[in-house]
Amino acid sequence: VANERESMYLVSEFAQKYFHSTLLNTDEGQAIGYSYFKERGFTGETIKKFGLGYSPEEWDAFSKEALGKGYKLEFLEKTGLTIVREDGRNADRFRGRVMFPIQSMSGRVLGFGGRILGNDKKVAKYLNSPESDIYHKSKVLYGIYHAKQAIAKLDNCFLVEGYTDVIQLHQAGVENVVASSGTALTPDQIRLVNRLTKNITVLFDGDAAGLRASLRGIDLILEEGMNVKVCTFPDGEDPDSFAKKSSYDELIAYLQDNAKDFIQFKASLLMDEAKNDPVKKAGLIRDIVNSISKIPDRIQQEVYIQECARIMDISEQVLISTLAQLVQKDI
Ligand code: ATP
Ligand code: MN
Ligand code: MN
Ligand code: MN
Repeated sequence: VANERESMYLVSEFAQKYFHSTLLNTDEGQAIGYSYFKERGFTGETIKKFGLGYSPEEWDAFSKEALGKGYKLEFLEKTGLTIVREDGRNADRFRGRVMFPIQSMSGRVLGFGGRILGNDKKVAKYLNSPESDIYHKSKVLYGIYHAKQAIAKLDNCFLVEGYTDVIQLHQAGVENVVASSGTALTPDQIRLVNRLTKNITVLFDGDAAGLRASLRGIDLILEEGMNVKVCTFPDGEDPDSFAKKSSYDELIAYLQDNAKDFIQFKASLLMDEAKNDPVKKAGLIRDIVNSISKIPDRIQQEVYIQECARIMDISEQVLISTLAQLVQKDI
C-alpha cells in the first residue's frame, strides 16, 4: 500500500511537470493558459513558484503522454487524472483548464484544481481532483508548503477561500496565507495551521457566502484553542481582486486597520440592525457567548467575557451565567 501511494505521488508529480511545461512550451498553452494568468496579473516568477500549468483541450493528451512514459493506467485512474470509460477509451479529467497543483506541507503534489478560462456560468468554474489515497481535501490547505515558514515567523496565518487569493497575496508580499479551497473549513485543516501558529486571521470574500463561511470558521478555530480575527472586504471584492489593485502599503494598511477580533466582528456585523431592537441584541449577545463557550481555555473565556460586556454594554455577571448554562448543556 505504501508503494501504491508512492506510485500515485509519482504520477501526480509527472502531471504537474506536464501541465507546467504545456503552459510554458506549447502554442496552445501560451496562447490560452499563459495569457490568462498574465491577465490575472501573475508574473512569470509567480507561475513558476506555484508550478501553475495548463491542460490541453485534446481528449486524452495527458493520459497518452503518461502511458507512453510508462506510468501505469492503474495509478492514473486512482489519482483521478485519467477517467477510464466504459468503451475503453481513456479521457483526461482536466481539459482546457489552467491548473493549480495542490501540495502537502512537505511539497509533494497531492492533486489539482483546474479552472475554466472564461466565466461561463453553465460549467463548474473549478474542477478538483477526486478524493484518493493521497488527496484528502478536508486535510489539505492550499499554499501551506509555500506559507509555512512565513506563518511560523510572523506567528499569524491568513486564511482565504481560493487559489488565486493565495497566489495574489504572495505576489504582493504577504506570504503567510493558505486557502481552504472549495471545502468548508475543517478541524483537520485548522490543526495543520496550529502546528505553526495559534493565530488565524480569516479573509473571506466580501459576499454573503464569504460572510457565512467566516462565521462558521470562527467557532471551529476557537474550538481548537486558537485565536481568530476576521478582516472583511468590500462587497464584491476578494483578497485577490483587492490585492491586485492595491499597492503593498495599501494592502498591509487595510489588513491592519480592518482585522477585528471575533467579538468585534460579530458585534459590528449585527449591531447595525440590532442596536435599537432589544430582542435582536439579546440574540446577538447569546451568539457571542456561544462562540466564547467553544474556547477551551478558561482564562481566555474570562477575558472575552469582559470584552463582550464592554462592547455590548451588559453586565459580566449575566454573561458568565449564560456561559455556564451553555457549558452545562454541552456536558
Ligand atoms: P476566481 O477568482 O478564479 O474566479 P475564486 O477563487 O474567487 O475564483 P470563488 O467563487 O470565490 O472563486 O470560490 C472560492 C474557491 O472555492 C475557489 O478558489 C475554489 O477553490 C472553490 N470553488 C469555486 N467554485 C467551485 C466549483 N464550481 N467547484 C469546486 N470548487 C469551487
Ligand atoms: Mn466567493
Ligand atoms: Mn473569491
Ligand atoms: Mn476571485
